[in-house]
Amino acid sequence: MSRFTGHVPIRTCVSCRSKMAKMELIRLVVNGDNRIVVDKLKKVNGRGIYICNDSTCMERFLKNRDYGRFFRTDKDIKPGF
Ligand SMILES: [Zn+2]
Repeated sequence: MSRFTGHVPIRTCVSCRSKMAKMELIRLVVNGDNRIVVDKLKKVNGRGIYICNDSTCMERFLKNRDYGRFFRTDKDIKPGF
């Protein structure tokens, strides 16, 4: 019902695939040490992925272990948090 809906950036959670307002999702990026870290300010350059601020989504993502696929990289990246 919000008249602002059309102006809210929407991103898809990599875990559950639901579309959410970008501001409600956690942004994950890969740092220079090939570690996946939370980009709290959503300002880090590079490929970021978005995930719900939800332990179920986070656990499912961490169980997957095929992280490179999400970041479209062949590097051996690991969660850094
Ligand atoms: Zn999700």
